[in-house]
Amino acid sequence: MEEYDIVIIGAGPAGLTAGIYAGREGLKALIIEKGVMGGNANMAPVILNYPGFKSIPGIELLKKMGEQAEKYIEIIENEELQNVQKKEDKLFLITNKSEYFTKVVIFCSGTTYRKLGVKGEDEFVGKGISYCSICDGMLFKDKEVIVVGGGNSAAEHALHLKDIGVNVKIIHRRDELRAQKYLKDKLIEEGIPILWNTVLTEIKGDLFLKSVLIHNRETGVDEELNVNGLFIAVGEEPNSSLANDLGVKIDSNRYIITDKDQKTNINGIYAAGDVTGGVNQLVVACGEGAVAAVNAYIYVKMME
Ligand code: NAP
Repeated sequence: MEEYDIVIIGAGPAGLTAGIYAGREGLKALIIEKGVMGGNANMAPVILNYPGFKSIPGIELLKKMGEQAEKYIEIIENEELQNVQKKEDKLFLITNKSEYFTKVVIFCSGTTYRKLGVKGEDEFVGKGISYCSICDGMLFKDKEVIVVGGGNSAAEHALHLKDIGVNVKIIHRRDELRAQKYLKDKLIEEGIPILWNTVLTEIKGDLFLKSVLIHNRETGVDEELNVNGLFIAVGEEPNSSLANDLGVKIDSNRYIITDKDQKTNINGIYAAGDVTGGVNQLVVACGEGAVAAVNAYIYVKMME
């Protein structure tokens, strides 16, 4: 069985940066990614606030990070961690494909898109419902589409969809968006309609999504809107349960709790990026990944 100094869970911005630092320190390190390199950041239509790039699609930036990380560290894609156990001062990892011993685990496991939880959602995913405008937007060119949500992701999806010729509206449950000002201003500039104080109550169709039922919380009016597509952007849930099963402390929103060294309450376990909550920005995830790897290196050297 392979034995490592550090195993990093997740190949998003935090995991790849941790990998670059761990590899460059000469540690025997591995990244295990349940999907493909880049994670959720691949889905960002355009990134305008990552220093060094005035504007870059998420997929392009993450490809560059991945190529840099691969120079220093082994990265395994499409392998999913299933269990972590502490065995004396080492950690034993079981995935769907293999088993590993390691001195340190860094959880850079990110978040999963939150579901709306309304009737029809599960049935029409991939048949009109999407969580990623960069992946599926072009399918809806010249068609009617709704984006649900009021955060940065909803605003970015709507702007991207409009840009590629989709007739897009936003539905938001309150009368104010949570998105940052530059995105709100851009939505106004682009003339994207927003249905305020409105919730989606049901998704209907046959083989494919055909309409949504909406409810205006202010007027009490219910309406059926004919739409071809629905993009759901109502936030994210941290992928923290495997860490928590091992005894890692999480907060009331299930984000992993770390100290300023990105260390959790368990020796040898660190966490970085969106799974720790706080300011969910690429640059923060990268910074936390670096801090975690540097402190993990010190821990590994102390164990020797
Ligand atoms: P978010 O900021 O948590 O916003 C989620 C939105 O969905 C909120 O407007 C919320 O409404 C709404 N919502 C939640 N549950 C709902 C439900 N059941 N029904 C209807 N609406 C619901 O999520 P996000 O936009 O996915 O962003 C996640 C994190 O990534 C944030 O920290 C964000 O800043 C960051 N991010 C940053 C960028 C960037 O910097 N450009 C881009 C994307 C994401 P309320 O407002 O009423 O709560």
